[in-house]
Amino acid sequence: MDTEFDQQHIWHPYTSTLNPLPCYPVTQASGVMIQLENGKNLVDGMSSWWSAIHGYNHPQLNQAAHQQIDKMSHIMFGGLTHQPAISLCKNILSLVPSNLEHVFLADSGSVSVEVALKMALQYWYGKESKQRIASNIPLRSKFLTLEHGYHGDTFAAMSVTDPNNSMHQMYKGFLPEHIFAKSPENHQIQDGRWPEFNPDDLFDFEQKIALHHQELAAVILEPIVQGAGGMRIYHPQFLQGVRQLCDQYEILLIVDEIATGFGRTGKLFACEHANIQPDILCIGKALTSGYMTLSATVTSKKVADLVCNSEAGCFMHGPTFMANPLACAVATASLDLIKTEEWKKQVLDIETIFSEKLPRFKSYNRVKSVRWLGAIGVVETHVPVNMELIQAYFVEHGVWIRPFGRLIYIMPPYISKPEHIDQLLHAIESALEKDDCFLTTEN
Ligand code: PMP
Repeated sequence: MDTEFDQQHIWHPYTSTLNPLPCYPVTQASGVMIQLENGKNLVDGMSSWWSAIHGYNHPQLNQAAHQQIDKMSHIMFGGLTHQPAISLCKNILSLVPSNLEHVFLADSGSVSVEVALKMALQYWYGKESKQRIASNIPLRSKFLTLEHGYHGDTFAAMSVTDPNNSMHQMYKGFLPEHIFAKSPENHQIQDGRWPEFNPDDLFDFEQKIALHHQELAAVILEPIVQGAGGMRIYHPQFLQGVRQLCDQYEILLIVDEIATGFGRTGKLFACEHANIQPDILCIGKALTSGYMTLSATVTSKKVADLVCNSEAGCFMHGPTFMANPLACAVATASLDLIKTEEWKKQVLDIETIFSEKLPRFKSYNRVKSVRWLGAIGVVETHVPVNMELIQAYFVEHGVWIRPFGRLIYIMPPYISKPEHIDQLLHAIESALEKDDCFLTTEN
């Protein structure tokens, strides 16, 4: 492969053109294995960023793609509809919380967040713009969210993402400024039971919603697991408290299940840990089991109706590749696999291995904490990793794990066997002993 061209001309995620880190050329992937050009096989610990839950090159997903591509790969969704979209949306509605009834299909996770935020703004426009304008009260334009959150890299999604993660200071003046409440403490589930919840955890959120509710369009958060903003796992009672406060102040709750959805946390949707229902739900990533990009924003009828009432007219969004039939066909096949509920045992088996093996990692001086939930395992270190060297170390040890900052984490495909999880954990444990895999020594 012409990796020199790649280095010189192709941007990879979060990289510099001046000093790009090496990228490993992949030729194919199958099951949980990724094959590099040099013939080396790596056990996948990342599910291609939470997406490839059923593994790569899956026969049923391949078949769905083949069958659909022979009929039509794409057709515009404005004024036309098709069976792949209808089958997928039926499947989605049969799985998501029962209050949700309307599906907007979008291209990526970030776009589904943009859509959710726009829907929340249009909801309030439809509900109260006349009265507010007549009384000279500004329209609602703020969102309340949590520190350490992550919702995507497009502008509105970035504006509700942790300011440090999304480097708000670089886009000051352009990026809307929203309200951030302190993120909840990390909590660890043990044998299916959560520890006691300290209600003080909600204090800051409670204060902020009380202070700002008149200007808020919605609260947006990742339920139970905050992913790219810190791999934090928090208590279901926090989420219940948020739902109650949103009800009390009549503020919409947008739940971003793009990373957590479809079984990753041990429940089909992470909201189920807290037994709550959102007003707007964002899903993506595992929707197509990582085959192609597709996401959805799903709302209650009440939200949909107000978004489209006579003040607002219609929802102002319609991407070119909306409801791409090929993606819809694969997503339908992926959700059919989800509906067999095999994932429940697979995820529980992975969680059991994490609960047996991760606690001993705490004995390494370098380790600050470990945590796990469902098929998510996290080792937080005191100092950041040396990205280039730890990546090379993992590849040398036959695994694909991509840490960031002080976080070495895995979220393997659900089909991973115990020996695969062991190999991933063993590679992490041995890396913890290597000084050159970390930026500085212990402090
Ligand atoms: N929300 C969450 C919780 C995510 O984890 C991500 C992606 N990491 C996104 C939104 C954005 O999704 P995408 O990268 O598909 O735009």
